[in-house]
Amino acid sequence: MPRPILATIDTSALAHNLQTVAYRLAQDASGPPPFIWAVMKSRGYGHGMVAALAGFSQADGLAMLDIDEAIHCRELGWSGPILLLEGFFEPADLEILTRYRISTAIHCAEQLDMLESGPVDCPIDALVKLNTGMHRLGFQPGEYADAFARAQALQAVGVLGSLGKMTHFARADDDPVVTQAQLDCFQSITRDLPGMVSVCNSAATLTPGLASGLSASNGQWVRPGICLYGASPFADQSAESFGLRPAMTLSARLISTHTVPAGEAVGYGQIFRAQQPMRVGVVACGYADGYPRHAVTGTPITVDGVRTRLLGRVSMDMLAVDLAPVPSAGVGAPVVLWGQGGPSVDEVALSCGTIGYELLCAVAPRVPRREI
Ligand SMILES: *Cc1c(COP(=O)(O)O)cnc(C)c1O
Repeated sequence: MPRPILATIDTSALAHNLQTVAYRLAQDASGPPPFIWAVMKSRGYGHGMVAALAGFSQADGLAMLDIDEAIHCRELGWSGPILLLEGFFEPADLEILTRYRISTAIHCAEQLDMLESGPVDCPIDALVKLNTGMHRLGFQPGEYADAFARAQALQAVGVLGSLGKMTHFARADDDPVVTQAQLDCFQSITRDLPGMVSVCNSAATLTPGLASGLSASNGQWVRPGICLYGASPFADQSAESFGLRPAMTLSARLISTHTVPAGEAVGYGQIFRAQQPMRVGVVACGYADGYPRHAVTGTPITVDGVRTRLLGRVSMDMLAVDLAPVPSAGVGAPVVLWGQGGPSVDEVALSCGTIGYELLCAVAPRVPRREI
């Protein structure tokens, strides 16, 4: 029997979440709601490309980073738009973009140089990225008009196809004032330039004041990622409160149970010590599976459908749980680390000082995945 750990990917939850986001946008929109790029970077936030593609078959487009992921989507039969959020990295990539009809972000002058010197036999669709305060990728406000003019010249000679404009928010999850300032900057710089527009990640997409008024008839596209997987972009609002469903359930089983005498400690470093005799279960999941080693005693976990807590330090291949709330649980009892029937990935992330994104992306290749 293989080691009892499994990541179950519910493609119907992915489809449900996409629909939920589309429905919210439709309620807020004055005209037809904005188009949706379903963000699938990092192999669909750890869910796997095949599952993500199955779940997002109704998306207007798919956005990702890696050219190989994009090719994989084409080979799996996706014929709609694909956007590379970091664009291309070297001249040799351009031929692949044309061959597979992949759209690209253009965020730096070096990419324009490559387009100006490389032969391109079929126009590439592109979004020119403005840095409105994230200071990661994108042209500075003062450089943008020149960059866009260079892109338009490339369009005139058939190197670029449709052109658009994009930016990325730094604090859409926690600071509406900063976000509004970024949006104002974006609008003042790009207002008179033609083409499609894409600004909103999950947090902005789920913030009514921001996404409302966006419309496909103005060529507007949103770019939600995390919410489509059923996790929340916000620290203080659960995914469930938006009607989203977790798409990944990380489950395992108890492989041992025993009673720890009073005064004895559990696991490496002996950081958890029993005050009284207590039943402890050992779960076949550790940090080499992607479960965070920084999770603290008390991190929620479900055993046999009952919520209990992690004890002591997470080992490479195992972790320990408190069986006091579930005295009947024995070897083989089902454990949910996060997902359906267990704590949310965001709750677990909170107990180890990170965000659900990191945990979903970090599930290790050795964990078998099953799609349902
Ligand atoms: C990752 C990413 C997104 C999606 O972000 P979420 O917070 O997961 O919704 C959107 N746009 C860009 C440029 C990104 O890198």
